[in-house]
Amino acid sequence: MTAGPLESRHWVPAEHSHAPLPPSTDVLVIGGGIAGTAMAYYLARSGVEVTLVERGELNREASGTNAGSFHLQLAIHQLSGQGAEADRERLLDEARLSLEAYSVWKGLGDELDGSLDLHETGGWMVAETPEQLQTLRDKYELERLAGIETEVVTGAELRRRAPYLAETVVGATYCPIEGHANPLVVAPLYALRAVEHGALIRTGTEVRRIDVNGDTGARRFTVHTGAGRIDAHRVVDCAGAWCGEPAAMVGLRLPVRSEGLHVNVTEPRPRLLTPMVQHIGRRLTLKQTDQNTFIIGGGWPTPDAPRPRRYPTSWHSAAGSTAVAVSVLPALADVRVVRTWSGVIVFTDDFSPVVGESALVPGFHACVSSTGFTFSPYFARRLAEQMTSPVASPFPERYSLDRAATGTLRREKR
Ligand SMILES: Cc1cc2nc3c(=O)[nH]c(=O)nc-3n(C[C@H](O)[C@H](O)[C@H](O)COP(=O)(O)OP(=O)(O)OC[C@H]3O[C@@H](n4cnc5c(N)ncnc54)[C@H](O)[C@@H]3O)c2cc1C
Repeated sequence: MTAGPLESRHWVPAEHSHAPLPPSTDVLVIGGGIAGTAMAYYLARSGVEVTLVERGELNREASGTNAGSFHLQLAIHQLSGQGAEADRERLLDEARLSLEAYSVWKGLGDELDGSLDLHETGGWMVAETPEQLQTLRDKYELERLAGIETEVVTGAELRRRAPYLAETVVGATYCPIEGHANPLVVAPLYALRAVEHGALIRTGTEVRRIDVNGDTGARRFTVHTGAGRIDAHRVVDCAGAWCGEPAAMVGLRLPVRSEGLHVNVTEPRPRLLTPMVQHIGRRLTLKQTDQNTFIIGGGWPTPDAPRPRRYPTSWHSAAGSTAVAVSVLPALADVRVVRTWSGVIVFTDDFSPVVGESALVPGFHACVSSTGFTFSPYFARRLAEQMTSPVASPFPERYSLDRAATGTLRREKR
């Protein structure tokens, strides 16, 4: 019998993750979601001494609560403001990034030697107004220039290929490389393989204070955690929605804010939908799983909550997101939602990720992105390459950790 995606061979043994913290490490990774575990894996695979600390358990926050979609088509938040040449170059870069992220995912199951429950189903992005359809056409042009094979589909052709979509859908783009994977298994598998390559992972270990020492050598940082102290030559902040906290401990202000988001899952229904469906103008992502349930996401908000921000669910968002799903896929009209949950996502003020090394606090790195299930494997791999090879190409300036730095912070440059 082959092992299913949730069997125990995916998990780092508790006797490893509960062991004492070592006194020092080359790289300390903060956070045990997909970004942190991927960083630990790629660094350890390259022979770097790495320790990952997670304040709770692995994969309990955004990386284990998301909707699992690969968002490879340009999204509305990326498209807003298009027209200026600078925006056009940025959008082309972002579309090319999608191809890079796709190629990492494509080989990831083999690389990690395990099931990620990965489905390359293709994805529709739908429009219900002429203006939305025009946005899709503009988006298509950019994606085509970047090398992504989306197509615009309307009229009878759309009805033939997607008979399940509502009559209100006037057109859609189809992207064959979109799909989804299982968020419950990806970060745990990265973690397990990282440990096999020599990484140390310590859970129940919250970073509470970071001293930046004068020298840039092995004791550059002294990191104080709830489980003791550890010296590190380099630090990578992979704390997701809380990434601003470790950064603030070294005097950096990251351009981030966090939000609670909803996901719903329905009862199973006869097979209807293979591609993922998302909306260019409304909050919707929708897919049918192998178990024939539908996962409905799209960024519906939860009520706010105090730190550590385990947000409650809300009737408004559960009902609202289901209503959008039904309006686009009328066959779901009488479907029952059987579970709804929330997770905490990080957004940057300018929608660009925060990836690389700080110029203000050398040795302090971050790997943070909003569509992080799709993009973290790629960003982590590239950041690990940069940390191990001085000739690796740098990230664009707009990803910089220092872009929100205040004048005060600059004066405090260490
Ligand atoms: C509901 C929802 C749906 C989403 N849907 C999608 C989707 O379909 N597709 C997609 O691409 N993206 C999606 N996302 C976004 C995606 O889930 C995140 O961008 C991604 O998981 C971020 O991974 P991460 O490792 O950076 O953060 P996280 O998974 O949040 O991990 C950060 C970790 O850092 C730990 N930590 C924080 N502070 C400290 C500290 N001081 N010391 C030690 N540890 C600390 C936390 O406990 C946490 O485990 C969704 C997000 C949410 C919330």
